Amino acid sequence: MYNIAIDGPAGAGKSTIAKIVAKKLGYIYVDTGAMYRTLALSCFRAEIAASEQEKVVENCRSVKVTLGYEDGTQKVYLNGEDVSAEIRQEEIGNMTSAIAVYPPVREIMVAMQKQIAKENNVVMDGRDIGTVVLPDADLKIYLTASARTRAERRYKELTEKGQECNIDEIEADIIERDYRDMHREVSPLKQADDAVLVDSSQMDIEQVVEKIISLV
Ligand code: C5P
Repeated sequence: MYNIAIDGPAGAGKSTIAKIVAKKLGYIYVDTGAMYRTLALSCFRAEIAASEQEKVVENCRSVKVTLGYEDGTQKVYLNGEDVSAEIRQEEIGNMTSAIAVYPPVREIMVAMQKQIAKENNVVMDGRDIGTVVLPDADLKIYLTASARTRAERRYKELTEKGQECNIDEIEADIIERDYRDMHREVSPLKQADDAVLVDSSQMDIEQVVEKIISLV
C-alpha cells in the first residue's frame, strides 16, 4: 500500500489538498480531524465538558465512529448517523482540540487509522500522521501557512456560506488551537524529521497539489 501523510496546523488547506491529491491518484482520503470531531460531538451532545476527562474517555469508548465514502467524499458516522456537516461547527472544532489531548481518546483513533492505511492506498491528514500514526509513510508532507493567511481563508469560506464572523476572532481561535495542538504532551503537532515542508502562504491550491504529485 502507498501511504501519504499530511500534517499541519488548522486551516493550512490540508483537507482541500489531500482530497484533490487522493482523487488524482485514485487513493482514499482519510480526514482524521473528522474522526476526533465526531467524538467531540458525541461528548457535546451528552453534555460532557471537555475538562471532565473520565467522562469524556468513557463516552468515547462507548460510541462508534465509522467512515464511509459517497462519490469519493468522506462521510463520518456517529453510531450510524451521518454527522459530516454537524461536526464542522466552530464550537465543535474548539472542543475537539480540548479532548484530543487525552491519551485513551488518541489510542482509539490511532488504532483505527493504522488499520485503514494497512488496507488501502491513502492520503491521510491530521496532526500526528507522519509522527505517530504512519511513521513509515511513503511520503510525508508538513503543510503550513501564516496564521493570518489561514484566518483569511477560513473567513472567506464562512462568509461564502453566509455565516457572519469576525476575522480577528477567527485568527485568535486559530492561534489558540495551534498552541494547544503543538504543546500537548501526547502526540503534539510537529513536523516529522523526514517530512517535506510546504508553506502555502504564497501558493494557490493547484501549485500545492502539483508539488505533492511531483514528490509522489
Ligand atoms: O483537522 P481539524 O481541524 O478538523 O481537527 C480538529 C482537531 O482535532 C485539531 O485541532 C486537533 O486538536 C485534533 N486532531 C488531532 N489529531 C489528528 C487530527 C485532528 O489531535 N490526527
